[in-house]
Amino acid sequence: MSTDIKRKILIIGAGPGGLSAGMILAHRGFDVTIYEKKPFIGGRNSGLKIDGYTFELGPTFVILPQTFREIFSLAGRNIDDMLEIKSLDPLYELHYDDGRAITMYFDKPKLKQEIARLFPGEEVGYEKFMISQKKKFDRLYACLKVPYIRFYNYLRWKLIKAAPVLDLGVSVHDVLSRYFKDEDLKIAMAFQAKYLGMSPWECPGAFTILSYVEHEFGVHHPIGGVHKISEAMGKVVEENGGKINLGMGVKEVILEGKKAKGVLLENGEKVFADAVIMNADFAEGMSHLFKNEDRSKYNDESLAKKDYSCSTFMLYLGIDKKYEMKHHQIFFAKDYKKNVEQIFNGKTLPEDPSFYIQNVSVTDTTLAPDGHSTIYVLVPVPNQKDTKIDWTIEKKRYRDLVIKKIIEKTDLADLEEHIKVEKVITPADWQNDANVYDGAVFNLSHSLDQMLYLRPHNRLEGYKDFYIVGGGTHPGSGLPTIMESGRIVADLIGGSVKTNS
Ligand SMILES: Cc1cc2nc3c(=O)[nH]c(=O)nc-3n(C[C@H](O)[C@H](O)[C@H](O)COP(=O)(O)OP(=O)(O)OC[C@H]3O[C@@H](n4cnc5c(N)ncnc54)[C@H](O)[C@@H]3O)c2cc1C
Repeated sequence: MSTDIKRKILIIGAGPGGLSAGMILAHRGFDVTIYEKKPFIGGRNSGLKIDGYTFELGPTFVILPQTFREIFSLAGRNIDDMLEIKSLDPLYELHYDDGRAITMYFDKPKLKQEIARLFPGEEVGYEKFMISQKKKFDRLYACLKVPYIRFYNYLRWKLIKAAPVLDLGVSVHDVLSRYFKDEDLKIAMAFQAKYLGMSPWECPGAFTILSYVEHEFGVHHPIGGVHKISEAMGKVVEENGGKINLGMGVKEVILEGKKAKGVLLENGEKVFADAVIMNADFAEGMSHLFKNEDRSKYNDESLAKKDYSCSTFMLYLGIDKKYEMKHHQIFFAKDYKKNVEQIFNGKTLPEDPSFYIQNVSVTDTTLAPDGHSTIYVLVPVPNQKDTKIDWTIEKKRYRDLVIKKIIEKTDLADLEEHIKVEKVITPADWQNDANVYDGAVFNLSHSLDQMLYLRPHNRLEGYKDFYIVGGGTHPGSGLPTIMESGRIVADLIGGSVKTNS
């Protein structure tokens, strides 16, 4: 370790991945400098402030808070000294098109009663599901915490032991069908595949752990917003001696052969270092920060052939009143399967979309002026690849359609007359303004051929001293796993991880 102490590390991007690696490495004594293109910290997990209203740009669900606690402790901090993280009960409310709703309580006896009320008899399957998923989660999560940068890493004992319970050859929907009969209940336990931007009918069965972790460990909200986690991470980077340069984009990674030597900034300055970590969206970063001829494996052609997550259509509404609606609400399309197929296979815009609404002001009064509230709406839609959707034409029409659906399906009947500020983000905006490849906001899909060793490696294959963090590398998209990518890279650079174990 002593020889590493003064090593200089450059990080491209101050999203959760870059900040996670940065705060751990700075704590370990490395000389860390982060360059962030935007004038603010946090990437997709940043705050969006408009006229006194504060929205989350992206994440609204905090799951597995134990991972956040671990990552902060590796950087020498207690996250609970910096943020008040509230556990939500109920977790969320789910609405079917026929008007039925299920409240997913964190409190288990209440939840079982609720399942029995709507789906009599299925509470038995729920208990069995939770027992079987505990085993899967315990084994799988241990496998996700380690890098897969050699083929023989597949032979890790942890992975071999986990393999029989991972359900890799079947889908999330298949696994749920073992425990539940009612399709509507399966949807209530399967929609989490969308967190990975995937269809429950295609997402590998291993990912039923997502609903398990929500039910087992809860869904949480940091007061001030989920983006406060990014801000707290930035503070830790700086308190640990790292530097964060906002509004300073990187134009190119400087290579000597295949060794990363530093970066060329957009302002023309060259900065040299011992290692470079890329947190920029993986495919977008590879396309723009390297010349095509310098990228054998991840050239433009191979990136175009990869499978990407869906995108999202977003509405951020500042409201001059408060609604009683619960913190997290999901409204399913009448035909959920068709809705999913339109997004992933047909690549058409759903006219009957499923949508998610966050009414954070029922939990957190810090995000809007007194007596006001913020409403965040997320609609999963196709990414930009091979789609004919023209958002310059669709933006206004789709905004109106989504508002109409909200008014029809929710208690927010007077929504439109109370909107004081409004912002819309389309997949084209994610692509062009947020530098997200094809607007696929949840990054590369988590299909079997893009997981573990087959996902871009944390120490990127084909390069020396060049590392990847964030949703596009192992272990994958979602805040806890993105933070794990930071830990993995910090350990690889710090030399404390044995890659041949
Ligand atoms: C709408 C939405 C909802 C989501 N909801 C959840 C949720 O509820 N829970 C959850 O766990 N996850 C959620 N996610 C997924 C994921 O956790 C977040 O997207 C997360 O912020 C991704 O982190 P990241 O570090 O991979 O990348 P980013 O947050 O995108 O960070 C990358 C950073 O790199 C910067 N950058 C790019 N190019 C350059 C360059 N050339 N030079 C310098 N800087 C550059 C970018 O500006 C950005 O700041 C959601 C995502 C979205 C979009």
